[in-house]
Amino acid sequence: MTIEDCRSFAIGAGERAFTDESTTEKGPRDRTFHVKHLKLEVSFDDEERKVKGTSTLVLIPINDGLKSLELDAVDMTISRVTDGDGRHLDFEVADGKILVRLLRAYKAGQEFQLAVEYEAQPKAGLFFISPDKSYPNKPFQIWTQGESEDNKRWFPCYEAPNDRMTTELIVTVKSKYSTVSNGRLAEVKTDAKRGMKTYRWVQDIPHVNYLVTLVVGEFDFQEEKVDGIPVQYYVPKGKAKFIPLAFQNTPDMLEYFAGVTGLKYPWAKYAQVVVQDFTFGGMENTTCTTLTEYCLHDEKARPNYMADSLVAHELAHQWFGDYITMKSWGHAWLNEGFASYFDPLWWEHKFGRDEFHQRMLDTAKEYFKEDAEHYRRPIVTHKYKEADDMFDGHTYQKGACVLHMMRYVLGDDLWWKAIKHYVHKKGQGIVETTDFKEAIEESTGRALDWFFNEWLYKGGHPEFDISWSYDDKSKLIVLTVKQKQDTKDGTPLFKMPITIEIATKKRLWRENLDVEKAEHTYFIPSPDRPQMVLFDPDNWILKKLTFEKQKDELLHQIAHAENVIPRIQACEGLAKIPYDKAVFEALKKSLTSDKFWGVRAAAAKALGEMATAEAKEILLSEGIKQQDSRVRRAVVDSLGNFRGDEEVFERLCAIYRSDKAYYVVSGAAIALGKLRDPKAFEVITKNMDRPSHADVIVRASLDGLSELREPRAVQVCMDHTKYGNPEMVRMAAANSLGKLGHYLEDKKDDIREHLVRLLNDTNFRTKLGAVNGLVALGDAAAIPKLAAVDRYDPLGMVRREARKAVKKIQESHAEKAKKVDAQKDIESLKDENRDLKARLAKLESKVDGLAGGKKGKKGEKQPR
Ligand SMILES: [Zn+2]
Repeated sequence: MTIEDCRSFAIGAGERAFTDESTTEKGPRDRTFHVKHLKLEVSFDDEERKVKGTSTLVLIPINDGLKSLELDAVDMTISRVTDGDGRHLDFEVADGKILVRLLRAYKAGQEFQLAVEYEAQPKAGLFFISPDKSYPNKPFQIWTQGESEDNKRWFPCYEAPNDRMTTELIVTVKSKYSTVSNGRLAEVKTDAKRGMKTYRWVQDIPHVNYLVTLVVGEFDFQEEKVDGIPVQYYVPKGKAKFIPLAFQNTPDMLEYFAGVTGLKYPWAKYAQVVVQDFTFGGMENTTCTTLTEYCLHDEKARPNYMADSLVAHELAHQWFGDYITMKSWGHAWLNEGFASYFDPLWWEHKFGRDEFHQRMLDTAKEYFKEDAEHYRRPIVTHKYKEADDMFDGHTYQKGACVLHMMRYVLGDDLWWKAIKHYVHKKGQGIVETTDFKEAIEESTGRALDWFFNEWLYKGGHPEFDISWSYDDKSKLIVLTVKQKQDTKDGTPLFKMPITIEIATKKRLWRENLDVEKAEHTYFIPSPDRPQMVLFDPDNWILKKLTFEKQKDELLHQIAHAENVIPRIQACEGLAKIPYDKAVFEALKKSLTSDKFWGVRAAAAKALGEMATAEAKEILLSEGIKQQDSRVRRAVVDSLGNFRGDEEVFERLCAIYRSDKAYYVVSGAAIALGKLRDPKAFEVITKNMDRPSHADVIVRASLDGLSELREPRAVQVCMDHTKYGNPEMVRMAAANSLGKLGHYLEDKKDDIREHLVRLLNDTNFRTKLGAVNGLVALGDAAAIPKLAAVDRYDPLGMVRREARKAVKKIQESHAEKAKKVDAQKDIESLKDENRDLKARLAKLESKVDGLAGGKKGKKGEKQPR
């Protein structure tokens, strides 16, 4: 599953513990039977939003003497339970379960059948989407979302991931609708008199309950064959023109994953179905991935947004997650960590190593954010409040980084050998983390217990502090490596092999070191003084790195490091050096001529932090001329640092009004807000309501208005939360409203009341926006309402965010006084710094003018 929206809610300092002390361990579920087959017959009452049908289960007892059993069924009306001979069975319904009494005791292995007739009006698991007065263009759709444990809300079943079954889904719908489900379409029957059609879908390869899916609606459809497999694309009617950009790389991905896993795509078909108002980014149901409509985009969104990442992630799940499935949610990284790594791996194959390194850098950043702002936990843990809690930055991003390191430790040949063995051995199986460790050991001879202990069963990451010096007499580099992380919370000292790259005038070479202790000193022979020493030059290790370097070394690094990551790190290092001509020239050169866009963007960011007149000039000239809109976006973001500069303001207004790329315009909206020029209110509100990919321009404009801290923005945000606006806009507006309320004391009560009302909204994204807005507002009066959401909301993700919100508000409330003082200090320091920089820039221009340098005109471009 891909979670696109909720991760962006992870803002602000908050809880450090993943769970409360009272949380109990949740291992795999005990079983008394195996479900061999599920036959599900359903039809719908569209008006009443009801599903009714019969769930028939073929069961096999695991032990002798099975006389009764429990099935999962939440909020259902059960009319009848019968056995294979049609005899009625006694049953009781309580706490989301049906207790069925069998007519006799069954022996282990003795197959029997149960049929449950039921009706439900699900609040989660199955969703009805339909047009209304406020959204007349919404299509009618029904779609389901099983993971983590919501399929029990629309059919009686065994709801846990530790059992695989074949399934058969027989669904009757109005003739105008088509259906998509798991496996192959075995039969379609038409009842012309009633205007109905019945579809029978069969999944012959066993899969687990949360992967059962159904989508109903009117779709544009395209199909192609890849290696004999039907590859299908379903998009809402009228949107076929978006299919190529979103899905053009699916065949290449399918072939790539088949090649590297050694397993041809194992299922009957691969359908990608785009639905309205989907609650996640994507969901990897076997043979049939459901995707959010926001994956559809046009050229103006690219390359800032490309759907390939989402498409690759979900497709990789067909191997990791679907064909091999984790036994319990505590091992969710075996699904999500793999999908989150095989997505960048495909980028490496398709777009090369630079792009791959950039993606892994971004992946690590997401994990570090969660670790710093929320909590630290082992990747494998069974202490969570509910299964949805496991779908976080530790499971996804850290899981991906850990696989990346495993590849480094094993080397490419053994890594791929191990992956192929694991897929071959565990295909169609249920796995836990040790199964993967064993597969590596069997196939490569390498026992990685130490690695699994550090990275999977313990939390945290190394925080390295590195320094080096050169001894001219002994011709030795003295390299000190320290691990500074606090180990009190169970974070270990990490044992890792580390590569060092050394460049002298005459030679470039690498050394391999084994790091294990809190501190090591290495003596490395070198005939000359190094120009550059790189620690982990290819950035394999998930780490925080403090490596204070001299200016000359950073200048060498930005120009000569082969890997893009040290070049990006050099930009970050150079940004910290007080004004220096050589530093400026190096960053300017990187911005305009580095061959990789990520380095050019990092140089733009560094120039923005420099914030001198020269930096401004280059950002406004060469910077905003950059062809790649990802670099232009970084330039625009940097311009937000030039508060009080009229020229920057005017130029940002022009970019906001007319740049072709949505994500450059959206960056300009936020940067305009950060400049806090009151004139920005008019500019933004006049131009914000433009169509764009996933409404990114409107959303960023609302964010820009909150950055502006302008009282008039409150009403604009409130208007944009109204029912009838696109859900993404409503979510962003609620969030911005909370941010505004944080700064506008006299509006706080109105804003809180408005946001609390939105907690009852029917749209889950709007609710998430309100939850997040209330966190930004930081008003303790909202806590009881948020606690009620945590308790009663049907969607696990909403409950989880509400729970986190309560904690954050409580904490921020306690520390409020302290924080206000600290914030004031920071603001005044920032202002002082800005003044000093402006004065320095003036002086520097004068000096340049006196020297009669080639940039004699620069005096005209001083900040006003
Ligand atoms: Zn996933």
